[in-house]
Formats: sequence, C-alpha cells, structure tokens
Amino acid sequence: MRCPFCAHENSQVKDSRPTEDGAAIRRRRQCESCGARFTTFERIQLRDIMVVKSENRREPFNRAKIEKSVAVACRKRGIDQERIDQLVSGIQRQIETSGENEVHSRDIGGMVMDGLRVLDSVAYIRFASVYRDFSEAKDFEEFASTVKDVGGGGGGGA
Ligand SMILES: [Zn+2]
Repeated sequence: MRCPFCAHENSQVKDSRPTEDGAAIRRRRQCESCGARFTTFERIQLRDIMVVKSENRREPFNRAKIEKSVAVACRKRGIDQERIDQLVSGIQRQIETSGENEVHSRDIGGMVMDGLRVLDSVAYIRFASVYRDFSEAKDFEEFASTVKDVGGGGGGGA
C-alpha cells in the first residue's frame, strides 16, 4: 500500500482488526520510508453487479464507462476532476449498496443526470441529449428550454 505522504511503495502492518460491524478489516500501517502512520480498510466486494442494457443484454458493471460518459459531458467545462470523481463514486456506492444484483442502464443514466444537474447545467443537457436519445431536434429544444440557467457556452456539437 503506497504511503499517502511520501508515495513510498511499502508499508508495514502494525495492527489489524475487524471494524465494529465486522464488515471490514482495519489495518494500521507505517510507511517504511518516512515512518508516517495511516489506516486502510479491507472490504468484501459483495457482488458482481450486472448492468441490464436495452433488449435485456447484460454486461458487468464498469465504473470506467460512467467515468467516460461523464467526462464527455463535462468536456471543457472547467469542472474540478475531484468533483467529477465524487459524482461517479457516489453513483457507484448507490449501486453497490442497493442490495440488487442488477441495475438498469437507464437507472444509471438517471443517477448521472441527477448528479450533473447539480454540478453543471451544460454538462447536464449534453448528457441528457444522449441519454434520452432524442429522435427529433424539437424534443431536445423543448427539453433544453425547461432547464434554467444554461451558462453562455454555446459551441453546439458534442
Ligand atoms: Zn511515507
């Protein structure tokens, strides 16, 4: 486990015990280089979650896919990468703690929309235009007009 202070690759485990609820192991570690102490948690990955796509095709949940579509929506919007990561992590956590073994891709899309709505309205509209798969430009305009506070941006295409 890499030291968060000096990035040295090796640390020694000084102490190892389960958390109160028994769901994780907490390890106290000490960096072999700078001597800093830090704590890590080891958790069970409970399930392999499947994403249900259109026509009932299924594929394993893949965080990178959410990251990618969010990144496309947020392109050139000057949004902190940290806030984007938080958004994606929040969605992942929501899915992992849902208790379900499957999640519909449209539900993931809805979670991304909820997150982007708060984060950046232009990114929100960009994502929504793909997510809702508008067949007619008119629909999209109608939808866009319901979203307030669209910052200057312009620029058109994705
Ligand atoms: Zn260190």
